[in-house]
Amino acid sequence: MYTWGHCRRFNAYSNYFKKQFGERVQKLSIDAGFTCPNRDGSKGRGGCTYCNNDAFNPSYCNPTKSVEQQIREGMEFHAWRYKKPGKFLAYFQPYSNTYAHLEELRKIYDQALGFPEIAGLVIGTRPDCIDDEKLEYFVGLSKTHYVIIEYGIESCYDKTLKRINRGHTFEESKKAIERTAAAGLKTGAHLIFGLPGESRKEMMAQVQILSGLPLTNIKFHQLQIIKGTQMEKEYTEKPEEFNFFGLDEYISFIVDFIERLNPNFIIERFAGEVPPRFKVDPGWGLVRNEQIVEMVEAELERRNSFQGKNFGIG
Ligand code: SF4
Repeated sequence: MYTWGHCRRFNAYSNYFKKQFGERVQKLSIDAGFTCPNRDGSKGRGGCTYCNNDAFNPSYCNPTKSVEQQIREGMEFHAWRYKKPGKFLAYFQPYSNTYAHLEELRKIYDQALGFPEIAGLVIGTRPDCIDDEKLEYFVGLSKTHYVIIEYGIESCYDKTLKRINRGHTFEESKKAIERTAAAGLKTGAHLIFGLPGESRKEMMAQVQILSGLPLTNIKFHQLQIIKGTQMEKEYTEKPEEFNFFGLDEYISFIVDFIERLNPNFIIERFAGEVPPRFKVDPGWGLVRNEQIVEMVEAELERRNSFQGKNFGIG
């Protein structure tokens, strides 16, 4: 039994949710039709170089449908897929889901929480799209529902953030995370490994920085290049500037990383899963997320290791 209360060698989100809700929890992706300040010109145009939000949403997740309709269709889809889908979290993933006036946010999130089956909200956004008024609103919702605000950090290095045209600095990510956690909200972060211009050593060094943040949850993705993005053009022109992880190398890297990671962080994902038809990078073929989790756990077992084993050590 580890400090997170079960025998798995990492602080797994599926176990956390089962403990929290007493049953399986399924995320329903919702596209509420937000945009992003890095696309509409207020911060930048064109967006992050790797971004293509439209590439792989489930069919029910479509902003031409109301939030209510997306939730109804999403629940039907999962009821068909799983015999007992359990509870749901409305996952507002594409674009920046706090990038609107508070009144607009209220309309959207109140619609979602109007469903008794929806146990909570997962709200993906940018660090420059949050303020005290919005935080206060989410704190109110968190009194009765699970609410987490997830920030795309992507990298702790400003040189990388500039290169991928994120339109914000790491300091802004850090401040938003600190503010959100100080308000009493669950706070998540997302990181991409393999971004151009970063060495493996630099990627690994981020674990110290991240571990010191007041995060609740964390997600990792390997870099994948999606068709139709600015990054596809860069990759086509200068492939030598990209150094993709091979699958075995990634498993070894991620296990090294989580051995140093704060054991209090709930890990939601080790890798991203984009259907090969949407991608231009060499990729790993059809490897599912469950297989990645199995590989990580097998490697932890082989090393007789666990999340946070080397936390705080050099
Ligand atoms: S902040 Fe998000 S939605 Fe906006 S361009 Fe970047 S990845 Fe796309």
